Amino acid sequence: MKASNAKRCLPIALCALLLTRCSCDFFGTTGALLVSEADESKLGLEFDSQLKTDTTGNYPIYKAVTPDQLVFEKYVKDLANEIVKSVPASDRPGYDFKFTIIDKDVENAFAVPGGYVYIYTGIIKKMRNESELTGVLGHEIAHVTQHHYRDAMAKDAALSLILQAVLGNDDNKFKQLVASNFANLAQLKVSRDNESEADYFGTKYTGAVGRNPLGIATLFSRFDAGGPPSWLSTHPAPANRVGDVASEVDGSAALKALAADSATTDFTSRFEAGTKVIPKL
Ligand SMILES: [Zn+2]
Repeated sequence: MKASNAKRCLPIALCALLLTRCSCDFFGTTGALLVSEADESKLGLEFDSQLKTDTTGNYPIYKAVTPDQLVFEKYVKDLANEIVKSVPASDRPGYDFKFTIIDKDVENAFAVPGGYVYIYTGIIKKMRNESELTGVLGHEIAHVTQHHYRDAMAKDAALSLILQAVLGNDDNKFKQLVASNFANLAQLKVSRDNESEADYFGTKYTGAVGRNPLGIATLFSRFDAGGPPSWLSTHPAPANRVGDVASEVDGSAALKALAADSATTDFTSRFEAGTKVIPKL
């Protein structure tokens, strides 16, 4: 008797759950799950092609010409690709990552869905060693592996229209929506929880490639002294993030050993040689 009641109740409960989700969250995080990796790639490719033909001067692509500039570009991209290779297969999306350096004094890095990651020369100026660069790249790679930007788009009224358009057949409408929301896509804010999660995975990824996992924390601390840039001024506060990264490292014997050996695992000389062309602040 009890069993048959349970059988009758279960579909009703499930139905209520689905209805609740469908009525108020279809293009919220739940609906975002309908956006496949192929759709994310299409969106990222369109954003990237608009960025690379942008004429506002906000996103000047780093153009390596001299030998030192070529060394710098290769150094950053090789490091980024090394981090991606160390990401566990279960975390890695089906698409390739594409890394672009933007030649502008902005202390920022960002990504859009589809594995497109951008880092400004302005944030590299603030860095002192390779583990700090690894930390920032690892953090952005983690936003991609955890699909944070897709989920943030889904929660934004205007940007969720782009997700709906990428699922549809009207390519012109899709391209127009990307164009009219371009700046918002490039400055997409993710939730506090997503930032913490990106710090967590980014720190793991930094340790996985044998760099000091406290790199992102030392960079955060430096910003704390001079006032945090916009990407750090959202919650959680930089001080909390430093504390959270330190606790994560403390809780893992492998990460702790890498941090204790920072004279070796910061790879300071290699960073200085690789980024010689970028004057440091
Ligand atoms: Zn972030």
